[in-house]
Amino acid sequence: MKIKMNPIVEMDGDEMTRVLWKMIKEELIEPFVELNTEYYDLSLPNRDATDDEVTVAAAEAVKRLKVGVKCATITPNAQRMEEYGLKQMWKSPNATIRAALDGTVFRKPIITSRIKPYVRGWTEPITIARHAYGDVYKAVELRVPEGGRAELVLSGEKGEERREIYTFKGPGVIQGMHNRDDSITGFARACFEYALDLGQDLWFSSKDTISKVYDGRFRDIFEQVYQQQYKQRFEKAGIKYFYTLIDDAVARVIRSEGGFVWACKNYDGDVMSDMVSTAFGSLAMMTSVLVSPEGCYEYEAAHGTVTRHYYRWLKGEKTSTNPIATIFAWSGALRKRGELDGSEALRDFAGRLEKASLAVIDEGVMTADLAALCTEEVKTADSAEFIGEIRKLLEK
Ligand code: NAP
Ligand code: MG
Repeated sequence: MKIKMNPIVEMDGDEMTRVLWKMIKEELIEPFVELNTEYYDLSLPNRDATDDEVTVAAAEAVKRLKVGVKCATITPNAQRMEEYGLKQMWKSPNATIRAALDGTVFRKPIITSRIKPYVRGWTEPITIARHAYGDVYKAVELRVPEGGRAELVLSGEKGEERREIYTFKGPGVIQGMHNRDDSITGFARACFEYALDLGQDLWFSSKDTISKVYDGRFRDIFEQVYQQQYKQRFEKAGIKYFYTLIDDAVARVIRSEGGFVWACKNYDGDVMSDMVSTAFGSLAMMTSVLVSPEGCYEYEAAHGTVTRHYYRWLKGEKTSTNPIATIFAWSGALRKRGELDGSEALRDFAGRLEKASLAVIDEGVMTADLAALCTEEVKTADSAEFIGEIRKLLEK
């Protein structure tokens, strides 16, 4: 008998990952689960046809149903405009959904015994949370051509405040950044929620010794949210909240065994997530979860639509595209649905799906990207063969 479930939001996508999406559903999920999804086609042609309304509707559905799973999608650029004959250069669906949910993205590596991280001590995953609002990404910049006095001016409701930035005697540059208390608070809450979800410590780092007001505000808000809303739940779960300076954090992360969530400011998260994901082996082994402060969860693979493989697939070639991160997006969403609804069967299935996927790799059968990272002799499978092996294990 198939496992029954309440609906989750399913967001289909583009190119090679759309091909994998169908295979994963048909081979690994539908034979075992009476799959119940609210389906949104976020492929670029359909986003164009619906004037991107489908993306907004999907985001609203995630708010309503609390759980979604998303396939990788194309973010259009000039070349894609031409390739797909688009009406407009539509915004990145991820940006639209993130904004609608006021969500934070957590990137978590999937670890197998076959692939050794570049940092030998890392035995547990390190999840990076990047604050995806403000700072240098929304900065205003000016080139100073030939000297002058630069000031920060706040025209507030209760009058004006001024600070000199610098008085230039020659050419230079200036930059103005901002962030908002409500955005920082939402970020903090999403981080505390997700750390509780994983049952792991939360680290937060900034440079508040130098940036006493700006980074100091981040530190204070995290501390306040922790003390007021999460301290007791953390103590009950036996996990810790830990603040340290960004440079100290970097040193500690390298020496650590992993197994914690690292909350980063926008720029730190941008840089550190690429470093950490590379150190764990492969972008194809990285999942990504968008968590809203209200506790809505959207799961996806961290990689894109794997365009190069897709063009080969269109020519009739078999490709060895790694489906693991997309499988884990599905298992993550099914587990979360199971948790929210108290469905032991669904949670159990999510666990079995993940175990079977990793067991195939441990047995030495894997896609080309992983085979290239292994020193021992292994069998390279194409995507369909690899998924077929997982299916065999699941049926046992
Ligand atoms: P990508 O799709 O992640 O692929 C870059 C390269 O990484 C691939 O060519 C492939 O290398 C390797 N790779 C990534 N995932 C793999 C997998 N599952 N299995 C095996 N190899 C994998 O990034 P991109 O080429 O920069 O972007 C392609 C499209 O994806 C773009 O239109 C972009 O807008 C979109 N994108 C979407 C998201 C999202 O929806 N979250 C994220 C990023 C990018 P080899 O070719 O060397 O095998
Ligand atoms: Mg980056």
